[in-house]
Amino acid sequence: GTFGPAPVSDVSTRDTFDVGSVRGDFPILSEQVNGHPLIWFDNAATTQKPRPVIERISAFYEHENSNIHRAAHELAARATDAYEDARSTVQRFLGAARSEEITFTRGTTEAINLVAQSWGRANLGPGDEILLTNLEHHANIVPWQMVADRTGARIVVAPVDNRGQLDEQRFGELLNSRTKIAAFTQVANATGTVNPVVSMAQMARRAGARVLVDGAQSVPHLAVDLSELDADFFVFSGHKIFGPTGIGAVFIRERVWDETPAWQGGGNMIADVTFERSIYQPPPNKYEAGTGNIADAVGLAEALRYVERIGLHRIAAYEHDLLEYATPRLAAIPGVTLVGTAEHKASVLSFVLAGHEPHEVGTALNEKGIAVRAGHHCAQPILRRLGYEATVRPSFAFYNTYDEIDFFIETVRQIAGA
Ligand code: PLP
Repeated sequence: GTFGPAPVSDVSTRDTFDVGSVRGDFPILSEQVNGHPLIWFDNAATTQKPRPVIERISAFYEHENSNIHRAAHELAARATDAYEDARSTVQRFLGAARSEEITFTRGTTEAINLVAQSWGRANLGPGDEILLTNLEHHANIVPWQMVADRTGARIVVAPVDNRGQLDEQRFGELLNSRTKIAAFTQVANATGTVNPVVSMAQMARRAGARVLVDGAQSVPHLAVDLSELDADFFVFSGHKIFGPTGIGAVFIRERVWDETPAWQGGGNMIADVTFERSIYQPPPNKYEAGTGNIADAVGLAEALRYVERIGLHRIAAYEHDLLEYATPRLAAIPGVTLVGTAEHKASVLSFVLAGHEPHEVGTALNEKGIAVRAGHHCAQPILRRLGYEATVRPSFAFYNTYDEIDFFIETVRQIAGA
């Protein structure tokens, strides 16, 4: 039930969502930029961190810091407990059956590279197909090109329409007995398109393909439930969900453990080593060579708990209302063209302004304290498909307000000279 329109009600979340209270949790939102209060509309690039996350990371270094697993002393036990609690928190947050299905990585990019280099090299061969969509971030394109080059597999791309909405029927038709994996995003970062990933995964699984879902842009905005979404791999980044940079995770469903070999070798991932051979640990250690990002995993867990306290259904409803408020107001400005107008969208409002390069618009917005991304958003294929090299991309989170949107709209109007 996460993809339908928000329930119709007379009471807008404008009145019921206590945005003032959540804003108080984010110290950086009190910054001034160029003499104006910061307006952080660059949430698709990275999100800001609430005080509980900042304090949890400090507390780890003040009271728990140690390497994990390897030493039998008090702080090693505290650090190990905190790290494994973080893993269980990710498991619960995603609705995974077992905490061993959660492997920590640096983020989404490293997670997709892990799957491509480990599962991909072991399971792809000449003539095999990797099905992507036209909406993917470069992180879900380039690792597959690398493994396709090594294995002789080929990339097939499911098309979108002019609104940036996936052609689900074509996606289904492109699945065939050569499709070994379908890898697609849940929410597209350049257009905000929400893909119907539950049914896409079902279709791909029925065709005998493995499924990877890129959750980088979805987990901060929609509730994800891996007991309902039948993906073999699910990846996301901590920094896009109010957690630290340098930490993320890949969910590797138990049924694919045997066909997903170890990726990097080293300490922590082994059970026994001689010069002749090594025996690996079972997952997740099998996929976590070397010392991981312990403190930031603990910080990520705190971010997930923070989001759970507010509730993703409430967050999704509030953000949906913000987007519904902003979209027609932006579209009404003379010279503005929205880029990506799919039926179901989350957070992102990409646009271009006639007579102004996107970076000029970004710079002019920054002069008023408004942070947006202007550029290709690491998603050149979808922008080119829609006819652009670059756009201006505001993207909202639950700490953004109607007043911020009003000021943003007024500023774009001034830039447009309208
Ligand atoms: N996938 C999508 C859809 C994204 O939006 C991003 C980040 O912009 C990534 C993957 C890559 O994430 P990271 O840079 O955190 O590895």
